Amino acid sequence: MADCIFCRIAAKEIPATAVYEDDSVIAFKDLEPQAPVHVLIIPKKHIKSLLGLTQEDRALVAHIHVDVVPQLAKELGLAEKGFRVVVNTGEEGGQTVGHLHFHLLGGRSMQWPPG
Ligand code: 5GP
Ligand code: ZN
Repeated sequence: MADCIFCRIAAKEIPATAVYEDDSVIAFKDLEPQAPVHVLIIPKKHIKSLLGLTQEDRALVAHIHVDVVPQLAKELGLAEKGFRVVVNTGEEGGQTVGHLHFHLLGGRSMQWPPG
């Protein structure tokens, strides 16, 4: 998707600070971090949101959770004290970029969203 900012980051057309990359996934630092550690983990292929996932994406979603999140949590020093993975979805979910992304947040105590 030529007009998708995260597709452009995945294609290295827009710079980002990558912390992980493989054939199907890239993870990079959020531009406006909401915690001491704030990384976005995205599939390289364009998927608009959680609701855009299909059966063929099962292995990709599992890979992100089984492999990428734990590896990054350990490498970024979050494994001991904990962290949060967030997927904002749609307008009321607070999604602002229409390419599926998993926020990995840590380095501070998280509060349950009050609003
Ligand atoms: P959402 O609100 O869709 O759940 O999350 C989008 C996230 O993408 C936000 O946290 C925002 O700071 C981040 N973001 C938006 N544009 C860019 C960009 O060009 N580069 C990086 N690294 N992060 C971005
Ligand atoms: Zn995209």
